[in-house]
Amino acid sequence: MTTVIEGCAVVTMDPARTEYTDGHVVVADNRIVAVGPGRAPTIPEARSIDGRGCLVTPGLINTHHHLYQWLTRGLAADATLFEWLTTLYPVWSGIDADLVHVGATAALAHLARSGCSTTTDHHYVVPRGGGDVFEAEIYAARDVGLRFHPARGSMDLGRSAGGLPPDELVEDRDTVLAATEDAIARWHDPSPGSMLQLAVAPCSPFSVTAELMLEAASLARKHAVRLHTHLAETQDEDAYCREHFGCAPLDYVEQLGWLGPDVWFAHAIHLDDDAVERVGAARTGVAHCPTSNARLGAGIAPAVSLRAAGAPVGLGVDGAASNESSSLLEDARHALLFARAKGGPDALTVRDALAMATLGGADVLGRADELGSLEPGKLADLALWRLDTAAHAGITDPVAALLLGPPPVVELLLVDGRPVVEHGRVVTVDETALAARTRAAHNQLISKAG
Ligand SMILES: [Zn+2]
Repeated sequence: MTTVIEGCAVVTMDPARTEYTDGHVVVADNRIVAVGPGRAPTIPEARSIDGRGCLVTPGLINTHHHLYQWLTRGLAADATLFEWLTTLYPVWSGIDADLVHVGATAALAHLARSGCSTTTDHHYVVPRGGGDVFEAEIYAARDVGLRFHPARGSMDLGRSAGGLPPDELVEDRDTVLAATEDAIARWHDPSPGSMLQLAVAPCSPFSVTAELMLEAASLARKHAVRLHTHLAETQDEDAYCREHFGCAPLDYVEQLGWLGPDVWFAHAIHLDDDAVERVGAARTGVAHCPTSNARLGAGIAPAVSLRAAGAPVGLGVDGAASNESSSLLEDARHALLFARAKGGPDALTVRDALAMATLGGADVLGRADELGSLEPGKLADLALWRLDTAAHAGITDPVAALLLGPPPVVELLLVDGRPVVEHGRVVTVDETALAARTRAAHNQLISKAG
């Protein structure tokens, strides 16, 4: 199956940052085979997409999420992180595999609609008797058709042991490690073109023991999968680490083996200059989540300094309970605006913000050889954005239109060469039915929590 997209502006994100005001992209099966200016050569029996009035970019890559939270949006709307967590833990304790499947499907469909072709997920709530919630979200990603990097999360430090989560929501360490190893054996696909790769992801310093952090790191390295956790999100977390461990969050996890090119942190806000340099020198990745961070008033990560120090920096929407809009394009805009609000007009260009949302994310996930740019040989994950309606007509630069203008309709989203969104609608799942199922699942969860 060959697809030819032509007549559109093309932003390749290749090493030379090549762009065409009028160009083409040709996809054969699941790979890009040609990108260039003007019309594509005639290819018999190819599917032809008229790209006039549109911009094609690499599909966006989301490096931090909690898909199940799609069912618990809008709660604790004016709270700090720790207040928000203690409000939501009891609600989340009611999730099960069926509810997670509904929430994850809706969240993934929404990501697709906003131009996202690859997403990770950090699933750390595993209620006893709730069934296989991790399997449920993997099935959801298959249904929607996104490339998926789920991280098997965990919490083993309950309130009675000095942690933040309620005791009934934590697992014991052996259970976590065995379930994580089983999940890797069952699901992780390291082969070229993979649609599914796993990571190991204890939740945060205030919900996980040092022993689990250590053992999780050696488990991940034994199986050559990546490591992910929340780090340096709030000043409360910083104070918690200083009180319990006598050091800053980065010092703490570094002692436990959590600094290296196979690790990525969500947030990384409260880092001093020395910590930024150490993260960069180790090529440890960062999922910058500006919308969620602002929603919770957590602060603004030093994303520009981290990039300059050599850290791969991608963007993350974070869970929908702290980012009800869950649009990666909106996070790219917020990354741009916050960087400039903090660092001045030269802090970040519109193209560098788009690079974070594409190449940066690919780098964070260890997929930069296959994802993040439109180049022959790379996987066919791309977004075609409509920019010729009243919303964008007359904006000179298509990248400025995308980053600074209203969120455009996604005319086409290809993931692995397959259409997931066409004309602004998700074509792989029934969005109307999904809305009804989401409402019902939300109501069920809220009534369970009383
Ligand atoms: Zn998170």
